[in-house]
Amino acid sequence: MKQITHWIDGRPTDGTSGRIGPVYNPATGEQTGEVALASAEEVRRAVAIAKDAAREWRSASLSRRSTVLFAFRELLAAHADELASIVTSEHGKVHSDAAGEVARGLENVEFACGVPHLIKGGFSEQASTGVDVYSIRQPLGVVAGITPFNFPAMVPLWMAANAIACGNAFVLKPSEKDPSASLLMAQLWKQAGLPDGVFSVVHGDREAVETILTHPDIAAVSFVGSTPIARHVYETGTANGKRVQALGGAKNHMLVLPDADVSQAADAAVSAGYGSAGERCMAISVVVAVGDIAGPLVDAIAARLPKLRVGDGADPDSEMGPLITGEHRERVAGYIAAGATSGARVVVDGREAELPERGFFLGATLLDDVTPTMSVYTDEIFGPVLAVVRAGSYEDGLALINANPYANGTAIFTRDGGAARAFQFDVEVGMVGVNVPIPVPVAYYSFGGWKNSLFGDTHMYGPEGISFYTRGKVVTERWPDPSTSSVDLGFPRTS
Ligand code: NAD
Repeated sequence: MKQITHWIDGRPTDGTSGRIGPVYNPATGEQTGEVALASAEEVRRAVAIAKDAAREWRSASLSRRSTVLFAFRELLAAHADELASIVTSEHGKVHSDAAGEVARGLENVEFACGVPHLIKGGFSEQASTGVDVYSIRQPLGVVAGITPFNFPAMVPLWMAANAIACGNAFVLKPSEKDPSASLLMAQLWKQAGLPDGVFSVVHGDREAVETILTHPDIAAVSFVGSTPIARHVYETGTANGKRVQALGGAKNHMLVLPDADVSQAADAAVSAGYGSAGERCMAISVVVAVGDIAGPLVDAIAARLPKLRVGDGADPDSEMGPLITGEHRERVAGYIAAGATSGARVVVDGREAELPERGFFLGATLLDDVTPTMSVYTDEIFGPVLAVVRAGSYEDGLALINANPYANGTAIFTRDGGAARAFQFDVEVGMVGVNVPIPVPVAYYSFGGWKNSLFGDTHMYGPEGISFYTRGKVVTERWPDPSTSSVDLGFPRTS
């Protein structure tokens, strides 16, 4: 059985708390590893080392920092396949999807390579006579990231690349369910020339998280995970004087207008609803079908589901892998039962699909005639379950989306440019797709939802990431009049 250690002071570090957590291969259901769960004392040790490292690292020149980032970028690209395989072996998502996750993470490293430009301040000459004013951005010191199971490579890179580029030391507390990707990334940071202690990994659960949230030497916390924990992290972290950006859960709606291309919308619903077994914060979980398109759209989605190949993510023929744990699979199956009991029409039942015998698999489920009071509508299921709500008009569909407490992503499918523009103007959601089902911003735009999908006022990565990991300082400067200088400047004073 693999022993999964922390990474502190630039090296693998055995846990000393005596507490461990199980790590599974979800495709077989077998336990493959044991991860050390940090005590408060172990977290404090990592933070103390990070604090010393941060003092040195903030003095490193911008060219040195970008040299390390470029080297890390090259190493990450060279190890992308290996990293994707680790993700598949502990998360379960298919290898091509895991490779996509690594590619999205890599884009954040590429963005951060431009730190000399990104961190520039402003300058105002002669703000008053003989007085100049300029602004600079400085690192915060030690910052922490707490990340979810569903993107064990990409989400840590959303945070670490910018945090480190800005001159901070970064302490990562990854999900204990799929912890190994973080350790390969730690090795690559070291090989890239990052000084020991600037990137650390402490595995753990609630005890580690509470220690991070209350530690006086941690200046900022970036969190991604479910809404109840995001709210707790935001409230506790800010009450302890920290900057916090806490991204929460989602219930993403895809609004399909009567003029949409049915085939294109059905393809999009299938890939965005069932990709990564629905375990994506940007997964589409509700299709809002407006008017007459509902019938043909439900038929078109249903027709595609028997062709979806469910299997081990390491098998190149698989299109959808298992869920993260057996417990989660049972929870998702429970929602299907609850939907049927409350009156939803089960068009395709994933519980009856032909599935591999071992592992945490569940087939794709399609529910029609879902109403907003059913638990399959109100709750984030985080599994391969797509709910169709029928709406009478564009306005009804829009009102439904705007009434939802989650507001991470949404999409509209239509051929009408005016309708699409009205939607992007009116919808109260942080990320909007127009004929694009998963509107994930690229690394040079920041990522984040609204309402219960994000606590805090800064979105993650991109320009807002640079702002989050630095604080502004404004310098007002006056020098003695040159005519009074003891140095002969060799030219007459003109002003
Ligand atoms: P989670 O909230 O259970 O865990 C996230 C992190 O919090 C993990 O590191 C975990 O160890 C820690 N944690 C869990 N319970 C805790 C507790 N009681 N006290 C302190 N810390 C605790 O989330 P998850 O199941 O790992 O990930 C799935 C969730 O993340 C979904 O809700 C999904 O929508 C969300 N997510 C959101 C985004 C986004 O960008 N908004 C991106 C990815 C995932």
